[in-house]
Amino acid sequence: MYACAAALWIAFSDRLLGSLVRDPATIIQLSAYKGFFFVVVTSGLLYLLLRRSVAIIEAGFAALETKEIERRRHEEERIHAESIIAHTDDAIVTCALDGAVASFNPAAERLFGHRASEIVGRPMAILVPEPQQRRLEAILASITDGERVEHLETELCHRDGSRLPVSVTLSPVRRGPERAVRGVSAIVRDIAARKLTEAALLRSEERHWTTLESILEGCQILDHAWRYVYVNEAAVRHNRRPQAEMLGRTLQEVWPGIEATQVFGLLEAAMKERVPCLEEVEFAFPDGSTGWFDVRVHPIPEGIFVLSVDTSERKRAELALRELNENLERKVEERTVALAAARERAEAADRIKSAFLATMSHELRTPLNSILGFTGIILQGLAGPLTAEQVKQLGMVQTSARHLLDLINDVLDISKIEAGELDVRFAPFDLRAAIERVTSVVLPLATKKGLDVRLEIPDGALAIVSDRRRVEQILLNLLNNAIKFTDRGGVTLAVALEREEGGDTANVGRLARMTVSDTGIGIDAQHLELIFEPFRQVDSGLQRQHEGTGLGLAICRRLVGLLGGTISVASDRGKGSTFTVVLPARS
Ligand code: ADP
Repeated sequence: MYACAAALWIAFSDRLLGSLVRDPATIIQLSAYKGFFFVVVTSGLLYLLLRRSVAIIEAGFAALETKEIERRRHEEERIHAESIIAHTDDAIVTCALDGAVASFNPAAERLFGHRASEIVGRPMAILVPEPQQRRLEAILASITDGERVEHLETELCHRDGSRLPVSVTLSPVRRGPERAVRGVSAIVRDIAARKLTEAALLRSEERHWTTLESILEGCQILDHAWRYVYVNEAAVRHNRRPQAEMLGRTLQEVWPGIEATQVFGLLEAAMKERVPCLEEVEFAFPDGSTGWFDVRVHPIPEGIFVLSVDTSERKRAELALRELNENLERKVEERTVALAAARERAEAADRIKSAFLATMSHELRTPLNSILGFTGIILQGLAGPLTAEQVKQLGMVQTSARHLLDLINDVLDISKIEAGELDVRFAPFDLRAAIERVTSVVLPLATKKGLDVRLEIPDGALAIVSDRRRVEQILLNLLNNAIKFTDRGGVTLAVALEREEGGDTANVGRLARMTVSDTGIGIDAQHLELIFEPFRQVDSGLQRQHEGTGLGLAICRRLVGLLGGTISVASDRGKGSTFTVVLPARS
């Protein structure tokens, strides 16, 4: 336009000037001005043109630079995306519209077991189990229509044929200026571990609920508005109501008037103060019956958890037991009084019996001594000569009378001992002399039976402190028994003085050990303890061969006890017996 205007100006300005001015000098002057004006205007126009051209060039350069930046940004983004795809833990698989695998990242290689080089170009369907392939086709079709499928949980195939539980997000891949869909990308996440955890969680939850349902404790959950949220089987039994009558309803609706009860106080404390509470409570049911429960209440985020144990049976048993105990105590008291009275009576009767025996024995001994005395006189012929038959008969009277006297003496002794009237008098004496005296008494009988009597006594005096008469009585009894129950062999009396084991050194502890052993009939083991009881004889039948009262050993044991010693027996049936008396010698 400027060039056109300039051409017109050049072509017609002189003519325009010639038609306006006729004076040649003025024309020349005006032509000079016109030329000058033309140069100025043209210069101005040229300047403007130049500036515009520079601006256009500058804009061109700027556009080129922007394009380069954009290209670099895209390149960086691509590298970044490729790095993410290469290093992500999610498997990323892309496929073309015909379903052929286009890319397969390292995570996909790890997950599916295929190498990228093997699978790229092969159909994506090889990753999908047979039954799900139709579904995949439908999904791929919707994706190519531009849709997106997120977190689809399914199973895909590993190269070894096993199934992989996965979560898949499918999106269309767009390319080109018109952003046309060129393929599908799949982001596949391995959810095997999550599935295992979920399954374990589910099992644990099931166990939890099964446990709650099967335990004997009642479990109930009440929400903050006192509404029953959960009631287990045991709680249904404790409440004596079906579950449907409670779930969804409030405590106050189910139990009208419960606010006034002890159990509500407990529940309210846990609900309001948010602290666990525990108490044994008695609950009155609407039908008038009552039950005892151990109730524990725990605050939980939902409201409160109530654990109850039915203690009604135990409580009833406790009450019954308490009543029984009280009755028993009363009865025991009554029986104790009755027993004390009975014991008193028994002791009195025993005392009377002993007194009676002592008196009777004494009364019997006097006439018996007289019989023995006179029989002896007659037998000695002091009252005139006797026939052989009379001597024999009187001899029998004398033997029977002696036996009777022995018996009476024994009865007298044992009754005195039992009545606590037999005193022992301790005094020093020579045990050797006592033994010789006793032996001289039994020797004739032993000789008559053809038995040896052996004494095993240490040399020297055997001074001890005890009751000489009672020691002699004990030894006489044991020696008499030994001779009585021995038909062959002999009888041995052994005596030893020994130091008491663990004896007090200040009060020299010495013991006299006296052992009477024989080679007689012996005693069965089961009779060894019985023979020390009054009137106990091993051979107690009517046919027994040996005479005796059955009191000798009983008296021995009691006398030994009074003297502070012990008596024991060891025996072998058919081989003989050994009686051992150990007495404190105290010298
Ligand atoms: P008894 O007057 O009958 O001898 P004891 O009390 O002295 O009464 O003895 C009780 C019983 O012990 C005797 O009847 C006898 O059976 C048994 N017994 C005692 N000593 C001996 C012994 N040395 N050998 C065998 N049995 C004996």
